Amino acid sequence: MPRAARSPRSAGHVALVGAGPGDPGMLTVRGRDLLQAADVVLYDRLVDRRLLDIPVHAGCRKIYVGKDLPGHASRDAQQDRINALMVRHAKQGRHVVRLKGGDPYVFGRGGEEGLYLHEHGIAFEVVPGVTAALGAAATTGIPFTHRGVAAEVTFATAHEADGASPPPWEALGKLKGTIVFYMGTYTLAHAAEQLVAAGRRGTTPVAVVERATTPRQRTIIGTLTDIAGKVAAAGVKPPSLVVVGDVVNLRPGLNWFESRRLFGRRILNLRPGERAEDALGHRLSLEGAEVVRLPGLAFLPPKSWAPVDRALKRLHTFDWIVLTSGRAARFLLDRAFALGLDGRSFAGTNVIAIGKETRWMLEASPDPMLRADFVPEVATSEGVVAGLGARRIRGKSFLLPRADKAREALPRLLKAAGGRITDVVLYRSVVPKPDRAVVAELAAGRFDAVLVTSGEIAKNLKAWLGRRPWPERTKLVTIGPVTSAAVRGLGWPVSCEAAEPGKLVEATMEALAT
Ligand code: SAH
Repeated sequence: MPRAARSPRSAGHVALVGAGPGDPGMLTVRGRDLLQAADVVLYDRLVDRRLLDIPVHAGCRKIYVGKDLPGHASRDAQQDRINALMVRHAKQGRHVVRLKGGDPYVFGRGGEEGLYLHEHGIAFEVVPGVTAALGAAATTGIPFTHRGVAAEVTFATAHEADGASPPPWEALGKLKGTIVFYMGTYTLAHAAEQLVAAGRRGTTPVAVVERATTPRQRTIIGTLTDIAGKVAAAGVKPPSLVVVGDVVNLRPGLNWFESRRLFGRRILNLRPGERAEDALGHRLSLEGAEVVRLPGLAFLPPKSWAPVDRALKRLHTFDWIVLTSGRAARFLLDRAFALGLDGRSFAGTNVIAIGKETRWMLEASPDPMLRADFVPEVATSEGVVAGLGARRIRGKSFLLPRADKAREALPRLLKAAGGRITDVVLYRSVVPKPDRAVVAELAAGRFDAVLVTSGEIAKNLKAWLGRRPWPERTKLVTIGPVTSAAVRGLGWPVSCEAAEPGKLVEATMEALAT
């Protein structure tokens, strides 16, 4: 059947998609599906940049259209530009996602954009997003309605936009329930005064939430009388929301978000790998940490595949294949498949996975093809030899497909115990280009912890830091004894070492508990 090609003349389409309040995990599934299929993404300032990794189409254009673009164009002129871009790309047959902070129809000019598309005959759809207020309710622990406390909630803006009529202070001041103000950071003193003048008690509790739902969320609590002073003293900046009402008093019992063990902590994760496979970073974020990634290594195929290919074609002649990492397993299986081989070639040989994580990566892949026959208790070269025992080594043949800079201990120890070794380079590790801004932040002590998962990564980090000393307040957490030794060799202190490679999260918690 011919593939349905997307010809330039086929109908384009615009989706106004709410990106949610800040945490990229709060995007809807519908929004994610549309983003995946997008040809063009027009995004605002408050949209988390990680959402821009979602489109799968390599040619997808991501265009920043925040209203703070330089050039001093008025906000209306910039809105005109956005409208024109949507229409132009849709008319060229593209699928456009207009990605907007929070929800498109809550203080987001989404209605104006929809009407403009309607007038120009462009098909569009709207995908709601979690509006900032609802995100903030969940993560500050302030339910907007609560039996016996507040029976209604009002979303308003305290921003007195040029030309627009001012907020209806008289009516707002008479409300008994919860009021949430958007865009109210700089007009808070005025808003509080107006509410009190219109009849709301000066002792009414108020919460101001900065960057709600993100790891950098800050919440300031006060009353209508004193909140403006507190917020000014704390230097609160946009984006922030103001919540007025007695429901604020419920927060102490509901504040799960800011009470998480790693909330407010910044962690630098040097472990290499795709973002999607960053299970470590994911677990630390769930504990509340802000995790910044800076892969300490990158991986390339070997200079020549010939030795690997020869070994792959005679796999049945090896008694043991030793896999030292999930990466090795992936490279080996991918290469076997590229050669036209498959799982059957592994018949008659046995697989050793060093480390529980290696077994896990092998057996939990989306289409597992190999099972580990043996996982040594202790995940070191010595542990492998001791675990296997002399009887399973002497006179047996071992295939060691490994990194170019792999340690020499394993082949040496196996050989000493009477094994026959075929050591092939399966992939090369190279030094990636670092993000200089992140390295500068590290040098300035802006991270609470740094995770180092190999000696080579430590060495690369040293090269990036150059003559700058280890930042005193930053805890260095390692994956195990070999990495710790390499770190100490560089003259850096190890704060905590994982009890086993899969326990880095626990080690990080321990390092940060003190
Ligand atoms: N359409 C958006 C609102 C856009 S107006 C929505 O539905 O959320 C921008 C205002 O939203 C900001 O001035 C601020 O008041 C609020 N806001 C957006 N993101 C926020 C966040 N993460 N924390 C606190 N307030 C936020």
